[in-house]
Amino acid sequence: MKINENYANVKKSYLFIEIAHRLRDYMAENPGADIIKMGIGDVTLPLVPVVIEAMHCAVDEMGKKETFRGYVDDNGYGFLIEAIKGYYARLNVDLDYWEIFVSDGAKSDLGNILDLFSKDNTVLVTDPVYPVYVDTNVMDGRRIIYADAKEENGFLPMPDPNVKADIIYLCSPNNPTGAAYTRAQLKKWVDYAKANGAVILFDSAYEAFVTDPDVPHSAYEIEGARECVIEFCSLSKTAGFTGTRCGYTVVPKTLKADGDLNAMWLRRQTTKFNGVAYVIQRAAEAVFSPEGQREIRENIAYYQENARILTAGLDRCGVKYFGGKNSPYVWLKCPGGMGSWEFFDRLLKEANVVGTPGEGFGENGSGYFRLTSFSTHEKTAEAAERIVKFINGLEK
Ligand SMILES: *Cc1c(COP(=O)(O)O)cnc(C)c1O
Repeated sequence: MKINENYANVKKSYLFIEIAHRLRDYMAENPGADIIKMGIGDVTLPLVPVVIEAMHCAVDEMGKKETFRGYVDDNGYGFLIEAIKGYYARLNVDLDYWEIFVSDGAKSDLGNILDLFSKDNTVLVTDPVYPVYVDTNVMDGRRIIYADAKEENGFLPMPDPNVKADIIYLCSPNNPTGAAYTRAQLKKWVDYAKANGAVILFDSAYEAFVTDPDVPHSAYEIEGARECVIEFCSLSKTAGFTGTRCGYTVVPKTLKADGDLNAMWLRRQTTKFNGVAYVIQRAAEAVFSPEGQREIRENIAYYQENARILTAGLDRCGVKYFGGKNSPYVWLKCPGGMGSWEFFDRLLKEANVVGTPGEGFGENGSGYFRLTSFSTHEKTAEAAERIVKFINGLEK
């Protein structure tokens, strides 16, 4: 046998390992240091009450002969697909039942969707980037090109008519930068994709954090998107499902391609995937209920308040930042021309606050730093005070 040699080209994901090492070394020298972790990339608030209730109820159903469920229907249970369809309808997006596919999360679908595309395609990702887009394509051996996300373009690169790409990844609101495309900006990408016969893989994992009315929750709010966008969403950040696992992918029947991508995805999923657990799909259904929406909004508001506390602190010390408005991430420019890792080390030692060096997400992340709003109000406020004190203490 021969192995897939492309795996040798996948970069070791040393970012979080390196952070853990530096933290461990610091703690060894400074036992008992009161460290605040502001690099958390995972939700921390528990599942909301209606979700728990729905799960309990579904567990009981599974224990009774009359209500027991076996294998799941093709693309998900009807009750959940209808709930997702209703959610999109509120955005004035009309989806067909068979365009919605329930999954165990966005990450798996973002990787698995590549089954539908030839290895000969050129892939365009932004830099900095969510590493999954890069690694999954490296594993397949596809050519990857980068669109620069920089301060000059507000970390929102726009299409370059001179660059030819076939598969385009857009994540808005963005992880790690927190930047989000407006409708007008996204329309330019849709127009580019249509003109080039490209497909946009749109990751809307953070749509629930959108507050700006000019920023779309779904790419399908943009005219023409049904011809060129596959959208990936998940309840991970929306409703704290990171450990519960449920997401959904929309593959329009109207996508322009040499084949029927919607039919191919159904074929792919029914061949290699056997659906999401009944209990979890009931939990997901509860998220879309009126009480569910009210309850999850409270949790999102809690994180949004943390983002406000952080950005208010950065405003006080004159540090430039992006995100924090439509996103749980605050992407700050390291003051005094410091590098990401230098800032990391000094913030750890002088303020006992841990964040994520931007460099870990791509070259353009050099000199930037990611803070997240997934901690408590108390810890976030304390971290903000320490960051302000540290930055104000730097020689200007
Ligand atoms: C967290 C996150 C997701 C969600 O992934 P799941 O597999 O659904 O948990 C997707 N995309 C990005 C950019 C994320 O940060």
